[in-house]
Amino acid sequence: MSVARQIEAVRATLREGVSLVAVSKTHPVEAIEEAYAAGQRLFGESRPQELKAKYEALPKDIRWHMIGHLQTNKIKYIAPFVALIESVDSARLCEAIEREATKCDRTIDILLEIHVAQEETKTGWNYDELMSYVASGAFRALPHLRVRGVMGIASNTEDEIVIRRDFEALKAAFEALKPHFDTTFDTLSMGMSDDYPIAIACGSTSVRVGSLIFGERDYSK
Ligand SMILES: *Cc1c(COP(=O)(O)O)cnc(C)c1O
Repeated sequence: MSVARQIEAVRATLREGVSLVAVSKTHPVEAIEEAYAAGQRLFGESRPQELKAKYEALPKDIRWHMIGHLQTNKIKYIAPFVALIESVDSARLCEAIEREATKCDRTIDILLEIHVAQEETKTGWNYDELMSYVASGAFRALPHLRVRGVMGIASNTEDEIVIRRDFEALKAAFEALKPHFDTTFDTLSMGMSDDYPIAIACGSTSVRVGSLIFGERDYSK
């Protein structure tokens, strides 16, 4: 099926108020143009240099989300234009984004990525560490960051009970953090191609869908 038809098909399954981030990492500019022609304006990428190159090549009304693990020395590639950094997973990264945002004279929207999956390898804050960081008032010293909510990735399993438990943990973390921020703390980013309907049932406000829209990724290219 074409990219445009896949986008329509995914959109038709979304509850009102849930945004669709089309995850275009590894896919060429032409594929993004096809999605753009179908009205898609929100895209997610994992690698800063690839994100920057696509930003430069494509229409400027696209809103780009950084969703992959971000090294502090690469923030500079995306800081001038990125719409949302979803994968903020450490105090060190918060402080480094603050510095880059200050240089560009921007306020950068971020999500706090929380580790809930069973796998050791997945990135994200440990919930308790994040809670104490937030409760310490650390974000008051980071005025160029606007914390919009929480992001997370469920365990890589077919077991729906485990997946649901992960999403419920993210939803609970979102609710627990919310009182520490203002009304712009409104985004709960969870759900990918294989599990986004469960994520929506658990309260997701933003799903990140890649392979279902663009097909399988080929990392060898
Ligand atoms: C690649 C990626 C996605 C999209 O995954 P699909 O399974 O292709 O939908 C979503 N979120 C993150 C953080 C990713 O890295």
